[in-house]
Amino acid sequence: MHPIEVVSLSKSYGDFAAVRELSFSVKEGEILGLVGPNGAGKTTTLRAIAGIHPPSSGQIRISGFDVREDGVEAKRRLAFFPDEPRLFDYLSVEEHLQFIGRLYGTRDFRAGMEPLLAEFDLQDKRKAMPAELSRGMKQKLMIACGFLHQPSVMIFDEPLTGLDPLGIRRMKESISNRAKAGASIILSSHLLHLVEELCDSVLVIQNGASVAYGPIEELKWRIAQGRGDVSLEEAFLRITNDEVAAK
Ligand code: ATP
Repeated sequence: MHPIEVVSLSKSYGDFAAVRELSFSVKEGEILGLVGPNGAGKTTTLRAIAGIHPPSSGQIRISGFDVREDGVEAKRRLAFFPDEPRLFDYLSVEEHLQFIGRLYGTRDFRAGMEPLLAEFDLQDKRKAMPAELSRGMKQKLMIACGFLHQPSVMIFDEPLTGLDPLGIRRMKESISNRAKAGASIILSSHLLHLVEELCDSVLVIQNGASVAYGPIEELKWRIAQGRGDVSLEEAFLRITNDEVAAK
């Protein structure tokens, strides 16, 4: 069994089916890209996996624990990074890490905190409150907090928003290094060059349903039909336009 297992996930809001019968898995050390046009159901899928809202039907297992039945055990092993950084107004940078460390029962949080402050270039801001941080710094602090308990499953929704060029390069390295260390990662982004660079496989969804799923190289090869090479962006546009044309 892989650390992320999703079987026939569906989620409706009232009568509206936002996500329909999605099945996929993510291995140890694998980064899966989740892509799709606006409103395709990406955030709904990520929020269901993170246990934020229950699916209407289907099963989600994180490191073997069912997100609905064993929610606490599943959440202990995962970190979800939403597209908007969410912080506590009244805690400093250092206090955020201390608080999160306690929440997850991290022993010797200081030993874990210092390398993270260095990795995310926040050493000079350790006493700063969120109101004193830039958008990019808030993003980095949120991600540092999520890395502190060394989760085996990580879910990123648009992780590069608001970062400067150096921040982007470092964030890509941070994500890639966690995968090399064995984490299973889902990364949702409209930046297809980022997905192509970082991810091993991709799940394309449209109108809540899967329209393509598999290793990126295989998908590109299939779209190119054996003739030359296409970018993931080109493959994405062809796949999603074909779906529109077929309706
Ligand atoms: P984007 O790329 O624009 O962020 P997305 O793929 O993340 O889009 P979702 O946010 O998952 O898409 O939304 C999928 C569909 O579900 C959309 O049609 C949206 O209007 C609908 N939806 C999302 N949240 C709710 C909600 N709380 N109540 C009702 N409908 C919702």
